[in-house]
Amino acid sequence: MTYDPGNIFAKILRGELPAHCVYEDDRVVAFLDIMPRATGHVLVIPKAPSRNLLDVEPDDLAAVAAAAQRIARAQMDVFAADGITLTQHNEKAGGQEVFHLHVHVIPRHTGVELRAPLSYKEAPEVLAEQAARLKAALAG
Ligand code: AMP
Repeated sequence: MTYDPGNIFAKILRGELPAHCVYEDDRVVAFLDIMPRATGHVLVIPKAPSRNLLDVEPDDLAAVAAAAQRIARAQMDVFAADGITLTQHNEKAGGQEVFHLHVHVIPRHTGVELRAPLSYKEAPEVLAEQAARLKAALAG
């Protein structure tokens, strides 16, 4: 399996598509999922091209994990979450739809089920407001 630079997240990294970014460092970018499975659902991706867990460089994977932890802590506060779910899909059979490595970081509230994948598109103004709050929490 090879990396296709035409994937949606590669386009976001190149600035060819917009995203509601919440965090960036030298190895990682994180932005809100436009079809969130719960309020505040974030995707963390490495800047380096990698298809998924199977080909990512260990240092990039470690940077993604560290960013996911920072974001999870901020989400607990910003969204008054009771918990956090991480998911990560590899290849079509593993549920992957976008072929640039990404980790889903999803705030959870007791008794609230996740929405079905791709079942709900969030309004851009809602995403912008959530991104601003998360960004502020991550900067502080
Ligand atoms: P996966 O099944 O793990 O490959 O999930 C891909 C995720 O990317 C889904 O949760 C989609 O809602 C999300 N997604 C697709 N396009 C975009 C986009 N342009 N910006 C943010 N998230 C996206």
